[in-house]
Amino acid sequence: MVINEIDRKQNRSLESKLSLVIPIYQEGSHIRSSIGVIESVLIKNNLCYEFILVDDGSKDNTWSEISQMAKDNVHISALRLSRNFGKESALCAGLEYADGDMVLVMDADLQHPPELIPEMVQAWREGDYDVVEGVKKSRGKENLIYHLCAKFFYYVIYRTADINLGRASDFKLLDRRVVDAWKEMPERAIFFRGMSAWLGYDRKQIEFDVAERVNGKSKWSFLRLIRLAVNAITSYTSVPLHCITILGIIMFVGTIVLGIQTLYMKFTGKAMDGFTTVILLQLLIGSSIMVSLGMIGIYLTKIYKEVKNRPRYLISKCIRGGEKK
Ligand code: UDP
Ligand code: MG
Repeated sequence: MVINEIDRKQNRSLESKLSLVIPIYQEGSHIRSSIGVIESVLIKNNLCYEFILVDDGSKDNTWSEISQMAKDNVHISALRLSRNFGKESALCAGLEYADGDMVLVMDADLQHPPELIPEMVQAWREGDYDVVEGVKKSRGKENLIYHLCAKFFYYVIYRTADINLGRASDFKLLDRRVVDAWKEMPERAIFFRGMSAWLGYDRKQIEFDVAERVNGKSKWSFLRLIRLAVNAITSYTSVPLHCITILGIIMFVGTIVLGIQTLYMKFTGKAMDGFTTVILLQLLIGSSIMVSLGMIGIYLTKIYKEVKNRPRYLISKCIRGGEKK
């Protein structure tokens, strides 16, 4: 159904329901207080809301905390994934469960400032924007290597896929039709930020300072981040595969030039002393082939995972707000 522009704006009223999707992994020690802080902002601003708390297979007391909260509070629903599927899958579970007119995605550690929520909702209500996203004023504290890798990753994505993720965050408010469009995207390997950037729609950006984590530490190890980056790059661009072809062409041309030079030296009778060169060239060609095969392998693995078509996540428990079970 296509809703015309005027109807769409009128549909965005004070009664519109906001669903907050929050992926949670091992945050049991402070989840109750974090949700309390967010909820007090929502109540103060008279918003109509529901929380969808997704426990991404935590091993601490996260589930017992959020399941109890869901039983005590009609505004809170709790989902538990059957194991740790990763933040992106937890987000996906929450987005598929949410039925609000707008859906806000945020972290459980208060690094996304709840005080910004009323401003984001207001921007959505005014009707000109379908996505209101928080962008980081600065990237917060991170070490030099991490910083350089992140810069390189964003540069590659920007130059090859034309998606600017530079200061983007997962702190986003999406209109219902954007969520529905998001749900239509069939891929198994999810990268929320990239997928929502790919969708387009009218966007408003609001800057925020990344707060310190309330408790615990970041769940993203360096290795996990690299995995996410490789997934993102290979999901949005096939440029690395084209690079292999270009590399092959450059080496082919180089070989022809070297061949002509060798022939020339042979006919002019100059002695050839090329042992080191031969070894070096062999190493160069060998390593280029290995890198190229590796790169093709990454894409192949991706296709393999996609065609297996396994579910993105499995829900083992679900408590709807206020359900006393
Ligand atoms: N998270 C998750 N599953 C994971 C890792 C993290 O649901 O496997 C959640 C985590 O509980 C938090 C959000 O994703 O709500 C962001 O995680 P974190 O704070 O560790 O990431 P950072 O802020 O360092 O990017
Ligand atoms: Mg965090």
